[in-house]
Amino acid sequence: MDPKKKTPAEMLATPVQFLKGAGPQRAELLERIGLHTAADVLFFFPRSYQDLTDRREINQLEEGKLQSVLGTVEEIDLRATSAGGSILGVLVRCDTGHIRAIWFNQPIMRERFSFGQRVMLSGKPKYEGLVWQMAHPLVETLDKDEEAPAGELLPVYPLTEGLRQWDIRKIVRGAMESCVDLLDEVFPAEYLQAHDLWPLRRALPEVHFPADHESLAGARRRLIYQELFILQLALAAKRCQQRDQSRAPLLEATAQIDARIRRLFPFDLTAGQRQAIAEIAADMGRSVPMNRLLQGDVGSGKTVVAVYAMLAAVACGYQAVLMAPTEVLARQHALTLDRLLVASKVRHEQLTGGLTAKKRSGVLARIAAGEVDVVVGTQAIIQEDVRFAKLGLVVIDEQHKFGVRQRAVLKQAGPDPHYLVMTATPIPRTVTMTLFGDLDVSTLRDGPPGRQKVHTYLTEEAKRAKWWDFFREKLREGRQGFVVTPLVEEVQRSEVEEAEESDAAAVASLNETYESLANGELEAFRLGLIHGRMSSDEKDTVMDEFRSGEIQVLVCTSVVEVGVDVPNATLMTIESGQRFGLAQLHQLRGRVSRGAFGGFCCVFADPATDEARERLKAFVGTTDGFELAETDFKLRGPGELFGTKQHGLPPFRIADLSRDTTVLEEARRDAQTLVTADPGLTQPQHARLRRQMLTRYGQALELGDVG
Ligand code: ADP
Ligand code: MG
Repeated sequence: MDPKKKTPAEMLATPVQFLKGAGPQRAELLERIGLHTAADVLFFFPRSYQDLTDRREINQLEEGKLQSVLGTVEEIDLRATSAGGSILGVLVRCDTGHIRAIWFNQPIMRERFSFGQRVMLSGKPKYEGLVWQMAHPLVETLDKDEEAPAGELLPVYPLTEGLRQWDIRKIVRGAMESCVDLLDEVFPAEYLQAHDLWPLRRALPEVHFPADHESLAGARRRLIYQELFILQLALAAKRCQQRDQSRAPLLEATAQIDARIRRLFPFDLTAGQRQAIAEIAADMGRSVPMNRLLQGDVGSGKTVVAVYAMLAAVACGYQAVLMAPTEVLARQHALTLDRLLVASKVRHEQLTGGLTAKKRSGVLARIAAGEVDVVVGTQAIIQEDVRFAKLGLVVIDEQHKFGVRQRAVLKQAGPDPHYLVMTATPIPRTVTMTLFGDLDVSTLRDGPPGRQKVHTYLTEEAKRAKWWDFFREKLREGRQGFVVTPLVEEVQRSEVEEAEESDAAAVASLNETYESLANGELEAFRLGLIHGRMSSDEKDTVMDEFRSGEIQVLVCTSVVEVGVDVPNATLMTIESGQRFGLAQLHQLRGRVSRGAFGGFCCVFADPATDEARERLKAFVGTTDGFELAETDFKLRGPGELFGTKQHGLPPFRIADLSRDTTVLEEARRDAQTLVTADPGLTQPQHARLRRQMLTRYGQALELGDVG
């Protein structure tokens, strides 16, 4: 192929198969990890770097410092230990002596070595008797004819099986040589200068093959900034678009309406609730649809705020819907409304999966005819076929996964309803600024007055008897309690109901726990059992009996996790605590912090990993949900709960919200400044930014033709 005939765009679109060092076989592997063109390869960023900056001969090694040595594999020795583990020892001969690399319990590493193979080891060496040793070093294997890496910081790419670091480095290097000068700079030159950003053509080669730590930092800064900046631009554009296009009903809570609603509440609102209500009322009084997140720790009183908003909508002649993640919670909300609305004319109905077909079609007909003011249900149902006569407000309770997409599903013909989303899992600030960049946030910091703390204990098996003594004593005093066992893959799951449905094994182990308690430690008390595989009616019956006190102890899976509100319940036993995520543990503890009595939460756990230990330590260390959310975020990274994918956005290539906080703040500020100056990004020097924004986020954010 004659490169002269190709335009830069065509060059960048060259299929990987034709890249230097690739070929059809490797191309297939590259395709598998999402690399289709030369441009994809250029923007395929290293996961980490192997630090070879300090290269030593054996006779120059120092203990405890990160250093690298180059040599040949002479002996490989894999043996079992008496404790059932394994030790792999690899002896490497270097110019001036030997070094032994060892791995504990990683027999698979054996496959990476063969006799006579050239390797580079990086790690912290230790002098053990007669020979130097490195535990769990990083290994770079070299081909016979391959030069020892000249670069000091070697890129390590996230690869698939069959593709070696060495292969991909060669391919990246080749693509870089032929293509990097064809890349367009998205930022105007003055912009780069003013914001201390490297040009793309300088940053890109450096991020793959950095000269040193300093230039790596410069290159990364530029690329992270760009990624976050483009997203911030897209979010700003989305906001503008919503302001311009959407028409929501004006639901104004007049002084009269306000007084009428407040009279229904049996208590004074907290300062936080008053503030949140004021923010919500202001939003609902505008024709731009409200898009507000109400976050507040477990038990902080979010429901009342939601009820206020719904009644305000109803008072203005519109319908409101309250969606909960589980039937148990939907039912509880329905009961709360029953209580609050006894003296009111507001008509409310429940719409959950448990209804018979006949009842269901009756409810649907009344909703469509406008004969129901407030609908309480689970999300699954609302997303199907419900037609509202005049929907003004949608409240989504206990939702951690409300993405851009999900909210779009609820859009329907006619005016756009206002949205209020509630969560007890506080969202780290970096995330609200990005993935939820189009949401406004209200926060309930403090719960209602008179709440007692929950005492939390992390306990070993040996102390079990003592806990049950205490548990029984409190039950005799009239309190109630929970015993929670995990689902099989508790930590990974977030959709409680879904997980419950599919988990027969968990039910079996739950039954076992129930039997052993009912015939043992808690034999003298009235026990109930609840899990997600029971029918709605069965669940309702059990929950009602628990609420009334007929059942004293509820043995359950995390079906009680969210929202369940029984103030007399003060005892929480969590089995296999290591299997729960931090947010879940905190939610569970929240079940026993809701009344005037102090709560007690005891976690039995057998943590096998450092992460699990950290998690449990953080959990007993504080009852502040906001603090725990930040810890969780740091421990797990943004991947799981707040991953871009779950929100319908393409994943970040290089930015990381749990780490790049400073750059994020900067990019956000700068994007806002730019959009204020040039709202549609129509100025010619912003054309490239605009194009990149649309390419990357146009579809996910439904940006359409901005400007
Ligand atoms: P969450 O924020 O976890 O959803 P809830 O809305 O369920 O919390 O409220 C927890 C408990 O606090 C409920 O029993 C509710 O009736 C009570 N509550 C809410 N607001 C107040 C208040 N201002 N004063 C006293 N109790 C309140
Ligand atoms: Mg709640």
